[in-house]
Amino acid sequence: MTRVRRVLAPNPGPFTLEGTNTWVVGDGPSVVIDPGPDDAGHILAVLDETEGVGAILLTHRHPDHAPGAARLAEASGAPLYAFRPEEGEQRLVEGQVVETGVVRFRTVHTPGHTADHVSFLLEPDGFLFTGDAVLGRGTSVIDPPEGDMAAYARSLQKMVDLEPKTIYPGHGPVIFTPRGKLEYYVRHRTDREQQVLAALAEGKQRPEEMVPGIYGGEVPPDLYPAATRSVLAHLLKLEREGKVARTGRAKDQRFLKVTPRECERCGRPAAPGSRYCPRCGLAALQEGLPREARD
Ligand SMILES: [Zn+2]
Ligand SMILES: [Zn+2]
Repeated sequence: MTRVRRVLAPNPGPFTLEGTNTWVVGDGPSVVIDPGPDDAGHILAVLDETEGVGAILLTHRHPDHAPGAARLAEASGAPLYAFRPEEGEQRLVEGQVVETGVVRFRTVHTPGHTADHVSFLLEPDGFLFTGDAVLGRGTSVIDPPEGDMAAYARSLQKMVDLEPKTIYPGHGPVIFTPRGKLEYYVRHRTDREQQVLAALAEGKQRPEEMVPGIYGGEVPPDLYPAATRSVLAHLLKLEREGKVARTGRAKDQRFLKVTPRECERCGRPAAPGSRYCPRCGLAALQEGLPREARD
């Protein structure tokens, strides 16, 4: 089994837990995932754990994961890989294999926390390095417009399908029961969505009005602003699915639940803004119905 060591960055906080986990994987040479903040002492501690660095991988470019990478690349001479590379860095794409010595990683694009977020599957150990997509404790922050709840839901399913044996998160403890953890994450998002829909049904229209009812017992009030962003992420996903409509200007956005229409032909839910479900809409188009009958 490949050896994995954690070097904890000195940046604890409400969103980083004990600090960022910098992962040192394999030996002769090692691969370093997420060097963390640009902290000279931390980068030295990372170098102490390695027997030469073969590659540096970034899960995403947030300030708690990426800025130390340039310093580590300079000190070690190792190539730096990122989904959104900067000058002199290597570009990662979905499915790309990065191989150094005995270590072989597959890149898995897992957007949602950010659009550029990737996870790394260590084959054949089944170790998945998830950055901020899955945390050792608590749940991931989805903050629009960078964060995208619909993309995140798809990424969670993608990670379930990979059937990892162990998850090495960007923050918090190693996860030895990945299936249970990922199922909890999926359930958590579905439950939240139901809570947001229930709040809309009660007549609440703004994300900040919904937060105390949804998060009341779970998070202290100083984390309400972050929770508000998460509720907004759910509302934007529901808007795209045609279940919610948005009104008002940027500063005073309001959301309203859309009562679903039934398809006039088959009774299944109609597509947003249409009298028909997608299938009957297509049939109507092929039958050459006049345009006004399809609006
Ligand atoms: Zn992040
Ligand atoms: Zn992070």
